[in-house]
Amino acid sequence: MRQRTVYLTLAIVCVLLMGSVVSANTLETDVVVVGAGGGGLSAAIEAADAGASVILLEKMAFAGGSTVVSGGIVHAADTVVQAEAGITDSAEDMYQYRMIFANAQVDAALVKLASQKSADAIDFLIANGVEFLPERLYIAGSEPLPRGHRATDGGGGLVRGLTDSVDANPNITLMLETPATDLIHENGRVVGVTAQDKEGEELEIRAKAVVLATGGFGNSMEMLRRHQPHLAALGDSYYWAGTPGATGDGIIMAQKLGAQTVKMESEGGSLVASAVDEVPARNWMIYVNQQGQRFVNEAAFYSFIISQFNQQPQRLAWAVFDSAMLEELDIDEDVVTELVSDGKLAAGGSVEELAAELGIANPQTLVNTIQRHNTDAANGEDTIFDKDPSLLRPLTEGPFYGVQILNRRSLLTIGGLRINTNAEVLTTTGEVIPGLMAAGETVGGLIGEYYPGSGTAIVDAIVFGRIAGQNAAAAK
Ligand SMILES: Cc1cc2nc3c(=O)[nH]c(=O)nc-3n(C[C@H](O)[C@H](O)[C@H](O)COP(=O)(O)OP(=O)(O)OC[C@H]3O[C@@H](n4cnc5c(N)ncnc54)[C@H](O)[C@@H]3O)c2cc1C
Repeated sequence: MRQRTVYLTLAIVCVLLMGSVVSANTLETDVVVVGAGGGGLSAAIEAADAGASVILLEKMAFAGGSTVVSGGIVHAADTVVQAEAGITDSAEDMYQYRMIFANAQVDAALVKLASQKSADAIDFLIANGVEFLPERLYIAGSEPLPRGHRATDGGGGLVRGLTDSVDANPNITLMLETPATDLIHENGRVVGVTAQDKEGEELEIRAKAVVLATGGFGNSMEMLRRHQPHLAALGDSYYWAGTPGATGDGIIMAQKLGAQTVKMESEGGSLVASAVDEVPARNWMIYVNQQGQRFVNEAAFYSFIISQFNQQPQRLAWAVFDSAMLEELDIDEDVVTELVSDGKLAAGGSVEELAAELGIANPQTLVNTIQRHNTDAANGEDTIFDKDPSLLRPLTEGPFYGVQILNRRSLLTIGGLRINTNAEVLTTTGEVIPGLMAAGETVGGLIGEYYPGSGTAIVDAIVFGRIAGQNAAAAK
């Protein structure tokens, strides 16, 4: 009880500096930002810089969300960093790339704005202490020139810059371990949130506007079951690499007010990986489907691999390799024996035996696939998928092995709330929900079926986080 009093007193003191306390469990501020990842931190900084008092709620004990565990790559065009590296680029080219990649199945106005504001996002991050070295620029998807801006120290470096600014800003009160539980909606507009404080007591925070930046829903099996049944069906094999806080809270809260969602079914935020953690799938192995045929350049950009994998019958495929390759994986012999006897690693003295173990209907197809691959490796040219010749390795030494690969390692969810270019949340009938903005992975419509390249999620979170913060601060 004493702890709770101390905590509430601290929060109240902070809020008194900028907002007001209506009663012990009711606070008042200009803007509430829900979620302290890349999008929420950016929104809070912008709103506070515009003069608003801001309460930033974070349900975990730390700020950063998936952004802090990310690679800290930001996809941007026509930036100061590119200029330093002597690269000439344009926002229009970035926009075109993203539109073509998405087969135009995205909200063009949002993608255009994200492209146009991407250079500003880099400036904003630099101004907030994030470092991008020109020599670390790289091609982070399949764009024609390097747009991948790698923050020094990755996602940690990026979040550190933003949290340092938040901590130093007297207009922002960051409340950790304080999940928002619902939106307060009165007289047709959002006027705050309910939340749960560290002791589990309900808190009411009243505000002129609310920004939802709660990240995605990759850590909610319930939402995956509803929207992404293929991933949910993986059960224990499904691996969520992002923040545990990504349970779709913002999406659920907004949906209660009639918010529209978009692309919730897109599974392109996950990666193909070995089903067996002890036996990683490498890009110098070959991937084969149920027919025993290769179906992709195993070293291709990860989104191309997912898109091809998802089209294989029953999504069934294996990484196939020989004994020399197994040796290179450096797995304890006892572990290999156990995995084979448990049926997790298929093994055969000959390619035909391996094919039979994998259930490939016509073993001769796998024999032909490997023969062709070995000839290509000897000639230094992949005659089917043009894989980098340095990754073409013949499979010659039995026993031969096959480990199942799955689209199982999820980095982000692509679908979310529909917003307009002011980051305002729209209803299923296309109207603005007054007082409600959203940004980051909580939002959909910027990415189509597949992820266009590392850095696109974070740039969208920063761009729309900033816009949401600015517009929330201007709300009356
Ligand atoms: C391993 C990995 C690497 C990645 N690398 C990159 C990369 O290099 N570049 C790139 O562009 N993308 C990358 N991504 C994706 C990218 O990191 C995320 O899509 C992006 O950071 C999401 O930012 P966000 O602000 O929307 O959400 P987050 O950063 O996830 O923040 C959301 C926050 O909201 C909090 N929250 C949730 N619900 C509530 C609630 N009810 N109340 C209060 N707080 C709540 C969460 O705890 C979390 O802290 C990567 C993802 C992973 C997992």
